[in-house]
Amino acid sequence: MLTLIRNADVYSPTPLGTLDILIANDRIEALQSNIGSLPKDIECTEIDARGLTLIPGLIDAHIHATGGGGEAGPETRVPRIQLSALTEAGVTSCIGVLGTDGTTRTIRDLVATTLGLRAEGMNAWCYTGSYQVPPPTLTGSVRDDIVFVDPIIGVGELALSDHRSSQPTLNDFLRIASDAYVAGIISNKAGVVHCHMGSGERGFDLIHQALNTAEIPARVYHPTHINRERWLFAEAAKLAQRGCTVDITAFPDDGETFIAAEAIASWRRDGHPMERLTCSSDGAGCLPCFDPDGRLLKMDIGRPFTLIQAIQGLIEHGESIQDFLPVFTSNVARVMGLHGRGVIEVGGYADIACNDSSGQLVHSWANGQPMVQDRELTKHGTFESEL
Ligand code: ZN
Repeated sequence: MLTLIRNADVYSPTPLGTLDILIANDRIEALQSNIGSLPKDIECTEIDARGLTLIPGLIDAHIHATGGGGEAGPETRVPRIQLSALTEAGVTSCIGVLGTDGTTRTIRDLVATTLGLRAEGMNAWCYTGSYQVPPPTLTGSVRDDIVFVDPIIGVGELALSDHRSSQPTLNDFLRIASDAYVAGIISNKAGVVHCHMGSGERGFDLIHQALNTAEIPARVYHPTHINRERWLFAEAAKLAQRGCTVDITAFPDDGETFIAAEAIASWRRDGHPMERLTCSSDGAGCLPCFDPDGRLLKMDIGRPFTLIQAIQGLIEHGESIQDFLPVFTSNVARVMGLHGRGVIEVGGYADIACNDSSGQLVHSWANGQPMVQDRELTKHGTFESEL
């Protein structure tokens, strides 16, 4: 199967200018100006992408694939993510996470859901564990899960500084981090510890203590929700200086939230290293608001589409694409060890999004398969109606 995209303004994320791209099966076969006509007897779909920006498909490293929530009773368990919720956002790769509830939700279900997303055309991986310590696993050990279970690439979202956390000690935390790290080495996977950060005033203390105490490299720790509080976001820069990559959540804009576009723009303005920043959506997760007694006041549900809204916001702020694009693509691929993804290059996977000048999605391909064409979904999840 061949697809030839002509005259696209290509960001690899580095700006490469106007180029043609030839996709053969799941890979980018050629990337150059003016690819000549193919012989007429070779079947090839041609797309004119003049005026469109062509970027790597987005990688969302925090998706509640099985659905999150359940923090105000069983009726508040969020349903599993649908394929279209990812594809409408230009996401071509996602990493699934359990969340607060590692009791009624299981790693068995998460792995099965991840494999289901793959069968539907999405690139999908997941973390073992949940908020909890000891982490729930598939095989009985974090290390074995990462080494032996193909989609599992790390452990998380392990909750720190949060009223819903297992309140791990430094030793608990280091044992989990060392299992993830060593398993990552053995299996050539990321071996990350994806940490859910709560609003507690201890902030990143445990991660700093781990860095002060153990030889485990900083790249292993990947704290998320760092923009849930402005003070926490300010503290995150110190972790980035120590070599950690930190993750912004694209919370829905309710007028009060420190939204991703604003956070990313301020990180760049303040001169913090852009290569140490990623952004994820918390898709299909519950976004709860609690009173001081830990009772739920209100909840919203995360959607991957907030990533597109973040990109649109950054464009509106006048931020340049090459500055912020790695945060959604190549940085995530690096931290998560997704080789050949998050970049536009010859030989790389054909995970591609084409956006108009305002950042709205026009076309996308995952592994060379069209997911969105002319702003319409072309691939539907198993239980989604073909409207
Ligand atoms: Zn979380």
